[in-house]
Amino acid sequence: MSLQVQARVSLKPYNSFGVDVQARLFAQAHSDDDVRDALAYATQHEVPLLVIGGGSNLLLTADIQALVLRMATRGIRLLSDNGQQVVIEAEAGEPWHPFVQHTLAQGLSGLENLSLIPGTVGAAPMQNIGAYGVEIKDVFAGLTALDRQTGELRDFSLDECKFAYRDSLFKQEPGRWLILRVRFNLNRTEHLHLEYGPVRQRLTEQGIDRPTASDVSQAICSIRSEKLPDPAVLGNAGSFFKNPLVSAALVAQIKEQHPDLVAYAQPDGQMKLAAGWLIERAGWKGFREADAGVHKLQALVLVNYGTATGLQLLELAQRIQKDIAERFNVELEMEPNRY
Ligand code: FAD
Ligand code: NAP
Repeated sequence: MSLQVQARVSLKPYNSFGVDVQARLFAQAHSDDDVRDALAYATQHEVPLLVIGGGSNLLLTADIQALVLRMATRGIRLLSDNGQQVVIEAEAGEPWHPFVQHTLAQGLSGLENLSLIPGTVGAAPMQNIGAYGVEIKDVFAGLTALDRQTGELRDFSLDECKFAYRDSLFKQEPGRWLILRVRFNLNRTEHLHLEYGPVRQRLTEQGIDRPTASDVSQAICSIRSEKLPDPAVLGNAGSFFKNPLVSAALVAQIKEQHPDLVAYAQPDGQMKLAAGWLIERAGWKGFREADAGVHKLQALVLVNYGTATGLQLLELAQRIQKDIAERFNVELEMEPNRY
């Protein structure tokens, strides 16, 4: 067995909140064989298996009594290319943003709006990562996952993944599917999405009126770097709450007291509220208690100023949820995966 299993490993370097908890056992998978070895090891030693990627969407509230397997498989390959459309496949452990940059450097467009999202390729389908009006479902060609119940490999099509807003089959069936590699439909012709948030404005400021996919990526990187804390500097897991989907009637009710409420109409008639707006309006932006806080520039992001525990961050999140429910009658759902 090539898999190296270590006992009692701090997970501080392996979660972007920088929370210091221990894994009872820890290993890194560099191949499919390592993954199978880890499953066999966990079964043999009767410990649960927790698969992680970059740890950028985790809230760890206690020591993990499991074998934590970090996906570190690497490899990117072109599966088909008709001169216009390309199918490209990446291993689960490939870091997401360098993969996006690799595709752009090959002249392929499709992933540019998803630039600078931390984490790995293998975790991207878990919550159907999205930003600036694009989700991976929009460019998804398929994935291969290991069914941990049967040990069999299965290929998933777009429909089978049940992608929705920050959601997928894989999130709905936690612990069953271990994603090994993901395929994307990319294009040599650029179909750019510029209408979301400040993207077009940033390009205009830069004097770019006919942007390329790389221009869009760079603009989004610069916007994100200004607003979002870098986990290497200040621990965080990105947006801590999903943007709630509510009825138009509730939006009208809230607007009576808050006429400047931010709400976006959805195709199904529901309205999407900006959770960050609600939290900011409730006065939480910049709040800090001990080392757990709400970011100064983006109220949707909870931060660890150094020694916050997962439980302190969770408690802060629950206080915010309660306050938002009481003030606006809106339930906020946490986004990070809690262990
Ligand atoms: P992890 O945090 O390691 O794991 C997340 C979940 O996936 C866990 O439940 C884990 O068990 C499971 N998992 C991981 N790998 C696999 C695998 N190979 N097979 C099966 N299960 C697996 N998200 C967005 O959607 N849009 C954004 O714009 C965005 N911006 C962010 C900005 C910052 C600063 C940060 C810190 C986070 C942001 N996120 C965003 C959240 C996060 O980056 C994404 O959800 C990312 O896809 C998580 O990848 P990861 O490898 O770090 O997953
Ligand atoms: P923003 O641009 O300040 O916008 C605030 C919110 O309004 C966003 O959450 C976004 O919803 C929504 N929004 C903005 N323009 C919209 C439009 N034209 N149509 C519909 N909804 C619109 O947001 P931000 O915090 O700086 O983030 C920018 C993008 O990166 C967003 O897409 C956000 O989801 C993504 N992001 C995600 C995470 C994460 O951890 N999940 C972290 C950082 C950034 P949506 O969130 O639904 O897009």
